[in-house]
Amino acid sequence: MNAQCPCQRCGRTISFERETLTAQNRIVTCPSCGQETMLFVAAPIAVPAPPVIPQGLPPAYSLKDYEGFYRSSDEKSIGGVCAGLAHKWNMNRSGIQIGFILLGLFFIIGVIMYIACWAAFKSLPTRGVRIS
Ligand SMILES: [Zn+2]
Repeated sequence: MNAQCPCQRCGRTISFERETLTAQNRIVTCPSCGQETMLFVAAPIAVPAPPVIPQGLPPAYSLKDYEGFYRSSDEKSIGGVCAGLAHKWNMNRSGIQIGFILLGLFFIIGVIMYIACWAAFKSLPTRGVRIS
């Protein structure tokens, strides 16, 4: 394994094989300034691996929890349904909200119009009837 160490005399970097470094041959001649310098490598510090959160999932939740439909508990406007769907389908939340609003709007209007028409129109047979 290649290691690097700054020269103690000129400060330039000296590359060397880490495996060749022993207590006896630490003194080398710097290729840059030609003076003797001591090589040293920092002992590898055992860094504990950071906890792995798969898929960026919050702790205590697994991918299985996100199968099927769900509503958001932390990004909600009303019930979190739109935020949940937006999250599931990787869509814009306000787009889904507008979709829901339009659907509700037209559905209600449609129902009211149908009832109004049913009340206002007279009933006539139409099967096989040609009027023009
Ligand atoms: Zn040097």
